[in-house]
Amino acid sequence: MSANQTIQLLPDHVINQIAAGEVIQRPASVVKELVENAIDAGATQIDIVIKDAGRTLIQVTDNGKGMSPEDAVTAFERHATSKIRTADDLYSLHTMGFRGEALASIVSISYVDLRTRRREDELGTQLHWIGSQLEANEPVACSAGTTFAVKNLFFNVPARRKFLKSNEAEFRAILNCFQQIALVYPETAFSLTHNDSPVLQLPAGGRHQRIEAIFGHKTGSQLLNVDVDTQLIKISGYVGLPALAQKRGAHQYFFVNGRYIQHPYFNKAVTMAYEKIIPADLRPAYFLYFEVDPAELDVNIHPTKTEVKFAQEQSIFPMLTAAVRETLGKANVAPSIDFDREGALDIPAMPSAVEFVQTPPSGYNPHYNPFSGSASTSSYQSKPATEGWDKLFEDTSKRVEEAPSPTLAVTPEAHDGYHHWQYKLKYLMEAGEDGLLIIDQHRAHLRIEYERLLRDGEGAPAASQQLLFPEEVELTAAQQSLLSEWSGELQRIGFRWETDGGTLRITATPATLPAGHAQTLLQETLQDPDTTPGMLQTEIRQRLALSMARQTAIRAGQALNETQICDLINRLYQCDDCQYSPEGGKISFRISDAFMENELK
Ligand code: ADP
Ligand code: MG
Repeated sequence: MSANQTIQLLPDHVINQIAAGEVIQRPASVVKELVENAIDAGATQIDIVIKDAGRTLIQVTDNGKGMSPEDAVTAFERHATSKIRTADDLYSLHTMGFRGEALASIVSISYVDLRTRRREDELGTQLHWIGSQLEANEPVACSAGTTFAVKNLFFNVPARRKFLKSNEAEFRAILNCFQQIALVYPETAFSLTHNDSPVLQLPAGGRHQRIEAIFGHKTGSQLLNVDVDTQLIKISGYVGLPALAQKRGAHQYFFVNGRYIQHPYFNKAVTMAYEKIIPADLRPAYFLYFEVDPAELDVNIHPTKTEVKFAQEQSIFPMLTAAVRETLGKANVAPSIDFDREGALDIPAMPSAVEFVQTPPSGYNPHYNPFSGSASTSSYQSKPATEGWDKLFEDTSKRVEEAPSPTLAVTPEAHDGYHHWQYKLKYLMEAGEDGLLIIDQHRAHLRIEYERLLRDGEGAPAASQQLLFPEEVELTAAQQSLLSEWSGELQRIGFRWETDGGTLRITATPATLPAGHAQTLLQETLQDPDTTPGMLQTEIRQRLALSMARQTAIRAGQALNETQICDLINRLYQCDDCQYSPEGGKISFRISDAFMENELK
């Protein structure tokens, strides 16, 4: 190189490595590219074998059309593709994102073994690559179709390797991306194996069968068919019955022209159809497949993007809401309950959960009240909100006499001369010196419990309580992998369990967790979309503390006597943050005397 020449063209293998940075972010990206290629090759059976979450091995075997000896080599070149010929093709393709760079990228950052044979050829081809370098190319006897084995991913990009999360997290990403593809190609049979154990076996079938094979019979049996065909868009698939709706981790899938997408705006359209059918804080389940003219899509053709813009989103929105609403209506799922009404309805989480426990384990207390810590019959009254101010006041004072004294010391002096009462079994009112404080009882207690659990969590492992009758929880493969990531923290707070395939048998629970709540707690936590793989230990702790607090915090609908109200407010004042619940909701507000006087001038 002469002294005047400082600009050079980058060698191909460097260009490929740079491209790989975009296309191949983690082992899941390799799985996605290889499986999509197998589908494009017309495979009816695709078998995926993963070792160490893809660090050691990602192998995809298909029975598709295979490659000729020449094509097998060319396939690894940048911009080598049999799928597009002109730039226009990029926009007219139904499956998005072919650029002929996946294999070139993968081979630049790993070891790749390829075996492939076309049906019409007697002998197949076997290639061995080490980071874009073809080390061996020989004829081989093999079955028709193609096997890619990708080993030592990122062997020459240590920075990338360092970025990888835990094996559990990476495997979960693989599983998610696998499911997103498998849901679109039910007519293709799949198998997924991780570290020699089978994770999913999906026989060829219809969409419904596929959903059931992945998410289980409970989900499959509670789906309603959606089918709408307009000039602009064809919408088909399923929406879930209200029972499938969940606070966190509901199955929500949109696909457009055979590809998984995320679409917050359309999610809103579907959610609107469930208005007044499910409580506003639950998310409905849906598997909806859109087919539109590709010209209608403003696709960012980057192959790893899942966001897609539709040219006519505004017109599709109401169609989508109407389609889902009609489906629900046909199935007689109609708005029957008014969730906006106070208290009475969101009540029974605690009492009803207790009823479901068939044989109470020893030491079980049917009047468990996480608030007072002692049995209190008055604390579970869930009668409708009392009308009339005076009556409410009366009731409250009567309950004070009946109520057993709370175990927690109350300092009456602190509230001497103040008055406390409960409004609509939901809000606590404190008449102070300069105004009226209104407190959301659930949020307040959630904050108190959350901080207490976090404090307790810093100490020694929590006591655990053996269950006489173990509770069983069905876990999806994704939840199973998360479970192993969280097992340390779960054990620390008192959980013990055995696993048997996808079934988790809870044998012991945290001693402070009321009976019948372990199942919900685990399921909720493991399904939470905020519960991402690879969370820090402190984040896991906070997440678990919040879940526990949710299970134990008093709810709207739970009657409290004045002593209990005082105690709750006192403990709230001692919290690090008494303004907001750990979920971010405002806990209280004040109506000042000045305001009242002004209003009543
Ligand atoms: P693209 O999929 O965008 O065309 P890839 O780099 O993923 O680019 O693949 C390059 C080419 O290799 C494909 O166009 C196809 O011709 C061939 N190919 C890749 N995987 C397979 C397979 N499993 N079976 C047959 N041909 C394949
Ligand atoms: Mg491809």
